[in-house]
Amino acid sequence: MKQNNVEMVDFRIVDVPGRQHHVTIPAVEVDEEVLENGIAFDGSSIQGFRGIEESDMVMRPVLETAFVDPFMAVPTLALSCSVYEPSGTRYERDPRFIAEKAESYLQDSGIASAAYFGPELEFFIFDDVRFDASNRGAFYQVDSEEAMWNTGNGEKNLGYKVKNKGGYFPVPPVDSQQDIRTEMVRELMNAGIRVERHHHEVATAGQAEINFRFGTLTRTADNVMTYKYIIRNVAHKYGKTVTFMPKPVYGDNGSGMHVHQSLFDGDKPLFFEEGKYANLSEMALYYIGGILEHAPALLAFATPSTNSFKRLVPGFEAPVNLVFSKGNRSAAIRVPVAAVSPKTARIEFRTPDCTANPYLAFAAMLMAGLDGIKRKLDPRQLGYGPLDKNIYELPAPEKAQIKSVPGSLEEALVALESDFEFLLEGGVFTKDFIYNWIDFKRTNEVAALNLRPHPLEFQMY
Ligand code: GLN
Ligand code: MG
Ligand code: MG
Ligand code: MG
Repeated sequence: MKQNNVEMVDFRIVDVPGRQHHVTIPAVEVDEEVLENGIAFDGSSIQGFRGIEESDMVMRPVLETAFVDPFMAVPTLALSCSVYEPSGTRYERDPRFIAEKAESYLQDSGIASAAYFGPELEFFIFDDVRFDASNRGAFYQVDSEEAMWNTGNGEKNLGYKVKNKGGYFPVPPVDSQQDIRTEMVRELMNAGIRVERHHHEVATAGQAEINFRFGTLTRTADNVMTYKYIIRNVAHKYGKTVTFMPKPVYGDNGSGMHVHQSLFDGDKPLFFEEGKYANLSEMALYYIGGILEHAPALLAFATPSTNSFKRLVPGFEAPVNLVFSKGNRSAAIRVPVAAVSPKTARIEFRTPDCTANPYLAFAAMLMAGLDGIKRKLDPRQLGYGPLDKNIYELPAPEKAQIKSVPGSLEEALVALESDFEFLLEGGVFTKDFIYNWIDFKRTNEVAALNLRPHPLEFQMY
């Protein structure tokens, strides 16, 4: 704080659906007591937390999450916090607590000392004009060349426009977002996030991907929150809006959050075994078995929005099929084989998207994988592959053998209702949390959408 002449300190928590909230304190008021005991806040206004009858809660900063926030007018230190009861015990519904419990559960199991998570977030950078109600682009099929080139402003500039699914990844001027992505990368690096690469993604309408280095579960979820904050705020500075929603544009690629995962015992990578299929160890195979076997329930946390299931359709590089494969991007789990060493051996679960609360989604994935290891769920015996063909193009009878992801958020919630025992192991998730989650999603999202006539229904009926 001294080094950066910090004037304000911003305390941040994450609610149950995965949004950040903050409260700011003048730096001169932040002493050791504040850092240790935290500060009080009203939990009743935070989504998924508690009712007004017992609303007093405490947030305590996690010091290693600190970074100087570049978007505030005065030097401000931002800190992620954990949530506590007034009595000083951890709050059971704090997503960060669940993530930490999953890590402790892993260590107690003796299976591994650490789980590493490497999420790849994709997003769209839109001109704010796209959200003008008169611009129907997001709702209607891009069914003619003319519509495809129409920028929404009435003018047509065919010169360097990207065609549908043509964004991966011509150099500028076709890629018009190099500089904005570079500024995002710089700010991420300033905040202490180790960025590995950035590029334009496949969709035409300004889709981007910026990747950062993998890390341990809870700290990587912290990074996801900081990442989204920085990405949104840089875009805002440019008069743009970023959306992490999985399928904002009909007929074009959507945005995912592929999650790379591996287990280590100290320095020893546990997912590598030379000479086996894709150089995968038996433990890695069982981990895959756990993820695929629990996938329908898991998706209630990993693809937890109504819009998520508009991305999970064939033809857009989004994984619909519950199989694993090396290299194959139509499989739910891909095992990267290019430029891989024992230390970087990992699995990539491709189905999740950025509407997930990363603390909950990573914790749930780890629990599914560990359940697979404990029960020796062999994905080859359970009918989950390996399958190294393009699944979209398989003959119908072969395709019929393959299980696919749920078709809607409601289906995923129903799957979770009958498959959540693996999440309760070690007290990582609680029944209260899971029922609260299902009820929250059903009422505020599934029902909220179902009750409303859709613009397309006017066209159809
Ligand atoms: N956008 C694709 C998805 O929805 C992934 C594209 C890619 O990274 N190859 O998952
Ligand atoms: Mg990627
Ligand atoms: Mg990508
Ligand atoms: Mg990927």
